[in-house]
Amino acid sequence: MYLFQSLVDVSSVAYASISFSSYKQGELIVRFKDQKKISKSISDHRSSLIKKLKYLPIHHIKIPGGAQLQDILADYRKDPNVLYAEPNYIIRKSSIPNDTEFVRQWNLPVISAPSAWDLFTGSRMSESVLVAVLDTGIAYYHPDLVANLWTNPGEICGDGLDNDNNGIIDDCYGANFGGFTPGDPWDDDTADSHGTHVAGIIGAVGNNGLGITGVNWATRIMAVKFLHGPEGMGELIDALRGVEYAISKGAKIINMSFEVDEDSQSLRDAAKAVEDAGALMISAAGNTGKNLDEYSVFPASIRSSNNIAVAASSPSDGRPSYSDYGRHTVELAAPGGVSTGSPDGVLSTVWLGTNGSILYRTTAGTSMAVPHVTGAAALVWNKTPLLSALQVKARILNGVDHISAFADNTITGGRLNLDKTLNSLDLPAVFDVLPYQLNLNGGIITVKGVNFGTGPGAITLGNKNLTATSWTDTEISALIPQNSSGGIVLVNGRGNGFPLSIMQNITISSSTVSGVAPLTVELNATVQSDASILKYEWDFGDGVFRELQGVSSYATHTFDTADTYVVRVRTVDNAGDTGIGSITITVAPLTSTGNGSGCFIATAAYGSYLHPHVHLLRDFRDQQLLTNRIGQSFVRLYYRLSPPIAHFIAKHESLRIIFRAILTPFVFSLIYPLISILIVIIGCIAVIYGYYRRVVCKQVLRTDEAT
Ligand code: CA
Ligand code: CA
Repeated sequence: MYLFQSLVDVSSVAYASISFSSYKQGELIVRFKDQKKISKSISDHRSSLIKKLKYLPIHHIKIPGGAQLQDILADYRKDPNVLYAEPNYIIRKSSIPNDTEFVRQWNLPVISAPSAWDLFTGSRMSESVLVAVLDTGIAYYHPDLVANLWTNPGEICGDGLDNDNNGIIDDCYGANFGGFTPGDPWDDDTADSHGTHVAGIIGAVGNNGLGITGVNWATRIMAVKFLHGPEGMGELIDALRGVEYAISKGAKIINMSFEVDEDSQSLRDAAKAVEDAGALMISAAGNTGKNLDEYSVFPASIRSSNNIAVAASSPSDGRPSYSDYGRHTVELAAPGGVSTGSPDGVLSTVWLGTNGSILYRTTAGTSMAVPHVTGAAALVWNKTPLLSALQVKARILNGVDHISAFADNTITGGRLNLDKTLNSLDLPAVFDVLPYQLNLNGGIITVKGVNFGTGPGAITLGNKNLTATSWTDTEISALIPQNSSGGIVLVNGRGNGFPLSIMQNITISSSTVSGVAPLTVELNATVQSDASILKYEWDFGDGVFRELQGVSSYATHTFDTADTYVVRVRTVDNAGDTGIGSITITVAPLTSTGNGSGCFIATAAYGSYLHPHVHLLRDFRDQQLLTNRIGQSFVRLYYRLSPPIAHFIAKHESLRIIFRAILTPFVFSLIYPLISILIVIIGCIAVIYGYYRRVVCKQVLRTDEAT
């Protein structure tokens, strides 16, 4: 496959990018058109045949001694009988660049960059894809960057004139918005060299024997500065101007390694302008560990099809705690490293120290993850220039490595893989489903993406077919029936899918909803869903969901202090759906009279806390026991000990009978206290009389006998 690729593609693409030192001296590889004229052609060019390949129609040629290879090659290419001719290039087993610090760049092997580079290492030719870094600027004197920096073709640098008439004098490497020198995007971030670092990840010059290499060995990077100083601060208006400038100069990919918490319509409009220009924007998910399904960070949270939000991954493919994430909002992860200045950060170009005495340093953040994806987009787009922006995004999403740390918190569930992205086919990719959460009533969803075809084809939710109501290559509407389970929405059964959630209806039943402290309740959650529940998390009123041991819909809890508690349960099922149910429990202070149940043993014995006998026992508790200290202590002890006993009694009919037999006389005494006292008095009299008869009478008898 690789060999065939080189035979077909190289004639048109590779002459410019492969240096003339990497070929075998004195030899050529030639394919002729007419088999009958081969011998004549070879002798016309004073060459000789080394060998013809066995299956491929290719001839291995030796050129005359002393001749310049370029000259003979040119002669062959002019020959009407030659389909193509090329040097016998030297191919290495793997493209490992010779940059001295490459061994410290863990981030590149992690994304399979070396195998991608076997196929393609990038291009800085004038027609190649232009990448804009919207950031703190770029240290354009950096020796490992300067060859890959874009220079404005319409501007004569340093003549003090606005040659291209765009309102900015000498905007040579890019522009500077909000600064004093509009034409000079020099990176003045003396703390991090943020923009310079980002640029190096995208495209530090590769294989130049110096420093590091970027994802692209060769590329074209434009510096658009709107962030200023060591704090890296900038204004929205300057970000907007920067986007305008980038688009006006033909940028196709805009790297946005910055974040703002505020939603901005103008930033959304700028994103729309980027989309209309057929360009991509790559955005940082942000560095505060948030779930972007619940919180927003801009521009990452702009859900337009041409935006890609990127989370950070560590050297071991974990999610660093700082990295924001989102199952429905963050596309994928890429190497962002763990900490700045240590080997687990991402090594790239900086301009720090006195006059750039420090040229390389590691930095960590989603800012560093973004340029990996930007670089991947540039590489694949330069390799296959006919792709649309959305198709480039599709290749990136379809090319990820699926990684467990990102399975539940990114759309793709994966981390960038450069090799797979470069080799990916144009499969369908779903970018978004609107809305991504429905309830059991179902509804219409809009599915956005690319490579859907003219349709209608197959659209599925999990393993169920959906009915499409409209279909284009980039957008499908489909009907979600009532009572569906959530799952992955997939188009034509292939490529990247998108998770649709169905909110489950959950009800909680409680053994009681009110009582006196300490109140122990038994809770049961009932979920209306045909999917299997993977976990139940309970919040007993403090606002924190906790997973109990074992997957169980059952929970018990004791409320020690009087208050009103909102008990909640949250479920997650195997389709990724969640649901929340709640119930309110009122707990009264111990000294007041409560109306709750709580007579657990009696409830168990009589089968219901509504049984009239349980009512009577509860009244006895509230009116007789809770009104004095000894009684309160007894009640407290009872509530500690009785729930498990009650639970056991409830399950054994024989025990229930026994406890009813014990409790019923007591209850009777509560209903009929006078009769009870009378019975007790009569009983006592009977006992005393019996004693009298047995003991006293016997003595009299013996006395009688003795006399
Ligand atoms: Ca200008
Ligand atoms: Ca280098």
